[in-house]
Amino acid sequence: MEDKTLRCLQNKSPRFTLGSVGPYDIQVNSLNILMRDEQVSDEVMNSICDILSKDRPGVVHINCQALTKILDGSKRAKSHYFLKNNILERATEVFGVYLENGNHWSFFHCNVDRRCITYFNSLGETEWQCQAIAQHWSAFAASRGVKGEWDLKTTKHNLQTDSVSCGIHTLAFATEFLKAGGFITSFQCPVIQQERMRLSSHLFESLDRTKKCGICAKNISGRKKMACTCGAVLHVLCAATPMCYICQEDSNPLAQISLPASDTAAHSADPDVLVETSASDEGSALQQGWQKRCSTQCAAAA
Ligand SMILES: [Zn+2]
Ligand SMILES: [Zn+2]
Ligand SMILES: [Zn+2]
Repeated sequence: MEDKTLRCLQNKSPRFTLGSVGPYDIQVNSLNILMRDEQVSDEVMNSICDILSKDRPGVVHINCQALTKILDGSKRAKSHYFLKNNILERATEVFGVYLENGNHWSFFHCNVDRRCITYFNSLGETEWQCQAIAQHWSAFAASRGVKGEWDLKTTKHNLQTDSVSCGIHTLAFATEFLKAGGFITSFQCPVIQQERMRLSSHLFESLDRTKKCGICAKNISGRKKMACTCGAVLHVLCAATPMCYICQEDSNPLAQISLPASDTAAHSADPDVLVETSASDEGSALQQGWQKRCSTQCAAAA
């Protein structure tokens, strides 16, 4: 992955869908925000966790929308319409990211057989947070047939020193924790900007770019197709030259093509969440988007 490709994204239409990871669509803007000094968006958090769960049999990723409801203690999380009923049956480990107070990312993992939870918060883990998480997870697990007491452990780590990098700390920890099979005793987050670039290029390389046309971004199925040299699949009818929107030089008039109106894809639907959330439901901060900074509330909690 060349940095050049990532850098050129700054000049591309922010809403253009680059590709997908599982059920999550990634737009130009998703990656630009990941590279900049800003809060990481939920589709990026979900995608990178989805990538981390691949090739790890028994390791189940729960998306941030669902996990946040569970760990907030939402009544709806225990309902049988929420997530697949047997989600814990096939799992030896479950993990995901938790959006606290609608603006702060943290990491949750549990080993189902050992009834052991690991919680990581880049602002530090308070006693009351640990208790609430253990209690809410235990109630959810019991509703799915996994009963018993859960232990919660934390890891010694450096603290976040700004108010926007919790997502980066969280993803860096998730990567190291899962690679080590859960056996880490301490964690030091890499230099933030380097980690942003590593995650961006890893995410870009992991994108499935065969489901949507690399020029018009509409579904590829059922029409004559071809491929750009980068691997992106294109409609033959869209490709005046055989080059996707991202590979086109910005001086090329083709780059001026009009893009389809995007259907507010920032929060893509997830098939695991069977029932749409209503605005009155708990955790509606997810629908409203979060403030751009970790809240003083969560900063004070540290
Ligand atoms: Zn935060
Ligand atoms: Zn097309
Ligand atoms: Zn291309």
